[in-house]
Amino acid sequence: MAKHTIVLIPGDGIGPEVTSAAKRVIEAAGLSVEWIEVPAGAVAIEQGFDNVLPDQTLNAIKTHKIALKGPVTTPVGKGFKSVNVQLRQKLNLYAAVRPVRSLAGIKTPYSNVDMIIVRENTEGLYSGIENEIVPGVVTSLKVASELACTRIARYAFRYATRRNRKKITVFHKANIMKLSDGLFLKCARRIYEEEYPNILYDEVIIDAGCMKLVQDPAKMDVLLMENLYGDLVSDLCAGLVGGLGVVPGSNIGDDAAVFEAVHGSAPDIAGKGIANPLAVIMSAVMMLNHIHEETIATKIRTAYDNVLAEGKVLTRDLGGSAGTNEFADALIAKLQK
Ligand code: NAD
Repeated sequence: MAKHTIVLIPGDGIGPEVTSAAKRVIEAAGLSVEWIEVPAGAVAIEQGFDNVLPDQTLNAIKTHKIALKGPVTTPVGKGFKSVNVQLRQKLNLYAAVRPVRSLAGIKTPYSNVDMIIVRENTEGLYSGIENEIVPGVVTSLKVASELACTRIARYAFRYATRRNRKKITVFHKANIMKLSDGLFLKCARRIYEEEYPNILYDEVIIDAGCMKLVQDPAKMDVLLMENLYGDLVSDLCAGLVGGLGVVPGSNIGDDAAVFEAVHGSAPDIAGKGIANPLAVIMSAVMMLNHIHEETIATKIRTAYDNVLAEGKVLTRDLGGSAGTNEFADALIAKLQK
């Protein structure tokens, strides 16, 4: 088996705990891998770098193309620009893909949830263009470009087609943001009409879309939306299937891909050894499929599906009492059977 080189960014908060558990599971599943561990976030500053996203980290991803990343804390209202926003913009990781599915053994009011959120990852209100016009009046610019809107729409339709998905629903607020969300819609509609008439297509104003999501999420298939909406709707959807501990994600560009959970650094539980590593492990499964290690990916997925279905070893967010490592050990035991 060819040896893979994968960049590992432990991040901060619960990041080092959950990524080291994921690393153990990946190795136990038999991946031949060299990890290139690089810092990001507060850790990078502590190590003497002058940016939360050091050039060394960026260059490692540019060189090796694939990274598994833990979450990183972003100070509220001050400080450095978010590591995540920098990473996605600098590496042009324009598509965030977040599968949200019901899992056997995790009880929620919903069953049969199986949707994919495709979030535009590089512009919108995350462009970071904010100005103080006069004291007491500030603006934050929402950027939408035809290039980025078309690129994400095409990505979503291609993804849906390849994965045998039936329908794309665009969440928008073009009734209010007529130009920016209007452009997003126009581009999605054009890609649908000109390139992918095989997929069903729908447009829903996001407030009503959120209501529909909580009424009957099983009706949703692929959801396509701009940056901020995708951020908010991801956490909402996580709540439908058991929480942030069970929703993975990927940030995909034409030249590189970074795999990370939807959740953040969870400072409230960091360092306690109780975080659920599953979302990062599921992100690693997405990564393994991306690098064509499908057999290993399926082994890990079967192992966690079995552990969850048995319900004996669950972390606290899922109603159990297992710690991060105990859960990873249970997965590893299944892999070795
Ligand atoms: P969060 O996702 O860190 O936590 C929200 C809640 O979910 C908390 O109660 C937390 O304990 C729980 N939770 C999250 N992940 C969990 C896990 N794996 N296991 C068990 N419980 C889990 O969101 P937040 O508190 O709003 O943000 C904390 C920090 O993370 C902020 O600085 C934010 O900017 C950052 N953040 C980073 C990323 C990223 O690096 N990709 C993503 C989101 C938020």
